[in-house]
Order: sequence, then C-alpha cells, then structure tokens
Amino acid sequence: MADQYGFWRLLAEGLRGHTGWKPAWRDPEPKAEYDVIIIGGGGHGLSTAYYLAKNHGITNVAVLEKGYLGGGNVGRNTTIVRSNYLHTGNVLFYEKSLQLWEGLSNDLGYNVMFSPRSIINVFHSDSARDADTRRGNQMILHGADAVLLNREGIRREAPLVDVDNPRFPVYGGLKQTRAGSARHDAVAWGFARGADRRGVDLIQNCEVTGIDVRNGCVVGVQTNRGPIRAKKVGMAVAGNTSRVGKLAGLPLPIESHVLQAFVSEGLKPMLHNVITFGAGHFYISQSDKGGLVFGASLDGYNSYAQRGNLPRVEHVMEAAVSFVPAVSKVRMLRSWGGVMDMSPDGSPIIDKTPIEGLYLNAGWCYGGFKATPGSGWCFSHLIANDSPNHHIEQMRLDRFETGYVIDELGAGAQHNLH
Ligand SMILES: Cc1cc2nc3c(=O)[nH]c(=O)nc-3n(C[C@H](O)[C@H](O)[C@H](O)COP(=O)(O)OP(=O)(O)OC[C@H]3O[C@@H](n4cnc5c(N)ncnc54)[C@H](O)[C@@H]3O)c2cc1C
Repeated sequence: MADQYGFWRLLAEGLRGHTGWKPAWRDPEPKAEYDVIIIGGGGHGLSTAYYLAKNHGITNVAVLEKGYLGGGNVGRNTTIVRSNYLHTGNVLFYEKSLQLWEGLSNDLGYNVMFSPRSIINVFHSDSARDADTRRGNQMILHGADAVLLNREGIRREAPLVDVDNPRFPVYGGLKQTRAGSARHDAVAWGFARGADRRGVDLIQNCEVTGIDVRNGCVVGVQTNRGPIRAKKVGMAVAGNTSRVGKLAGLPLPIESHVLQAFVSEGLKPMLHNVITFGAGHFYISQSDKGGLVFGASLDGYNSYAQRGNLPRVEHVMEAAVSFVPAVSKVRMLRSWGGVMDMSPDGSPIIDKTPIEGLYLNAGWCYGGFKATPGSGWCFSHLIANDSPNHHIEQMRLDRFETGYVIDELGAGAQHNLH
C-alpha cells in the first residue's frame, strides 16, 4: 500500500504549505444493507473491519460509531502492550497480538509508534518470585520471551525504583523485553484509514439503538440514522457491552467499572521501561513527550461515567511515591477515566452468541489496548468462518456456565477484583 505519509510526501507538502492533504477516510452515508456491521468504532471494531477486508476479502462492511472514531477507551488508555500472561487461553492470544504489533506500522503504512521498551513486573516476596518464575516459564513455552531479574537487575534497569523500601523491599522482577507501548490515537487512525481504503464504510455519529432479531437470527440494527440490514453483526463496544447486549435481549456477564489514568508534566527521560509495582496494583511509564503516564486499580463501583473519584487518586499517588519516590517532586498535569468491560474471570470473550449471526467481542478489562490487532485478527476470522481460530478457542462465552474459566489472577468470579 502506498505510504501516504512517507518522507517524500511530507517534504513535498512542507514545501507547498500543506495544501495537498486529503481527509484520511471518507464520510459515507449508511447504505440500506451490509454483509457485516460492526458496532463500535474503537480499536477493536476498526481492526476487525480492517482484517475482515484484508484477510477475508469481506469489504461490504460498516463500522457504526455513536461518537467519533477513537473517542472511547482506545484513546483513553495508558498504552501498555505486552503478552506476559500465565494461562494458555490468554498467552496464546496476546502473543499473537504482540507479534502483529511488531509489524503493524509497516502493515498499515502508518506509524503507530510501537516502542518495545520492555515491561518489568517487580515482586516483593519469595512466593511472588515463585509465581513470576512460573509465569515466565509458561510464557516461554508459548513462544513469548521472559527474563527473571534479581534486585541488582532492577537497580540496573530502573534506577529510580525504591529497591530498599523498608515496607515493600524489592526482591526482583519479571521482564518481557519485547513489550512496550504505542501511540493510542495512531492505532485507531491507522486501522480506520486501512479499513476505509479497502472499502469499509466508517459511519460516525451513528448510535445503534436496537438489534433486529427474527426467528433467532440477526437481520440488522436500528440506529439514530435509520434502520440498516445486515447478515452478520459484531459487537465491539467495550464498556457499553451490557447496554448493547440488552438491545438484543442478551444478558451478558460483563460489569462496567471506571479506570483512571494520570499524566505528569513533561520531564527529561527518566524511566526507560514500563514498570509495575508488585505490592499494589500500579504501573508507570514515560511517554515520548516526557510525561509520566500511570494508573492503578479500578474505582470499584459500577459506572458508565468516564470520570473517577478522589479516594482512588489518593491511592494511586501513594503507590507511585512508594514505588518511585522521585515522583513526589513531579506535578501531575491531568487525569481521566474510561469505562472498562470487566468479565468475571478477568479474561476476554470472543465468541458467537446464542443469536445466529450476532458475535461478541468483550471483557477486555484493563488489557484491551494491547489486544487491538490480535482481537481484530481473531474476531474477523470468527465472523468470516463462523468458527474460532486456535488463538481464541478458550475465550468462550459459555465458560461461565461450564466452569472452564481463564482466571488469570486467581481472584474468583468477582469482576472488580481482576
Ligand atoms: C484509563 C485506562 C487505561 C488503560 N490502560 C491500558 C493499557 O495500558 N494497556 C491495555 O492493553 N489496555 C488498557 N486499557 C484498556 C483498553 O483501553 C480497552 O480495553 C480497549 O480500548 C477496549 O476496546 P476498544 O478500543 O474497542 O474500546 P473503545 O475505544 O471504548 O470502543 C468502543 C466504542 O463503541 C462505541 N459504542 C458504544 N455503544 C455504542 C452504540 N450503541 N452504537 C455505536 N457505537 C457504540 C463507543 O462510543 C466506543 O467508541 C485502559 C483503559 C483505560 C480506561
């Protein structure tokens, strides 16, 4: 695919005052009927549409987005990309996704700024070391990479971590070298442009208000811009999953919770990897603009509001200062919240639903950004072939009835603990 934003084009546009740029995608009116409708123009909806066209030749596709493309969680997250999971059902999928990240900018002809700067999960006890050793071995067995670091390794890799903290002394960490971060908006825009160029209609300001089902089969959707017929409909609406499921009369095992994120003032380079605290849920990295980007656990209560509360802010700041004391000197610039689609076992669902032709992509919890390419790859395969590929065989909707859950944290069936 021609690289619209390549060096020579940038040079030419610079010389002629940037007068030649065209919109990156069309703004079409919805057609009366499509082969496939994807509800939700976030990262997962856009990547699904892209791979439907690219991998399966299905281009009579519409992505219906109630707001603007990328206005949901895909543009609100802390951009960590990794595949350091314990359970086969997760590590198989997330490793596939990480491999797609590694070639994504070239594939899309769009710089998604994937930066494999590594992630280190720090541990603070012998038992946590055992658990991380097991996780690292499991990752290696599934083709991912993992290295166990001791205390000196942490000092070397992340000198600002308070290794000798008297309350939470650091014993070491599990490092995944190929992990890192990416630019979230660019990922949404890259997939949007790629899908549009292959003929997919991206329709913004188009809220799905009903899902039409006849004799147990999906036949289309109702929207604020009129009804649209479709042979197949895929849901990729993240924090709105339970609401949209309800439109089809589907009770789904998803709870929505708020997750907050924080950014500091811009600083000179001080953190070279993504690092996570093991004595509390806290993660931090430094963006290319210099801001420290960090977050922690959910706000705990159910909500569809994209804002959080102050007790969680206090908790996050405490964790930050315990882990990287230098942060106490830094000014916090801004914070925001996003609505997380939490599943009971903390792992995603990519599956058919009991309604024929209606497919579900949900339960991304904290981790759906890194899943963006993998999710589209696998969801498009499911929609095109009516059967899952091997990366998502365990991500079934009925696992909460059969008991074959993918309980990554061993936290049990409580949504807000994952
Ligand atoms: C603060 C925060 C930090 C995070 N950090 C990370 C991280 O570091 N790493 C990581 O991997 N993940 C992270 N995540 C999670 C990740 O962002 C999400 O799991 C992922 O973005 C969800 O998939 P999506 O991109 O498709 O969702 P979204 O971008 O939310 O897309 C869903 C879209 O559906 C649309 N929609 C909803 N209802 C309707 C309707 N009725 N009709 C039409 N459209 C509709 C919404 O408007 C939205 O645009 C974080 C999330 C938050 C909030």
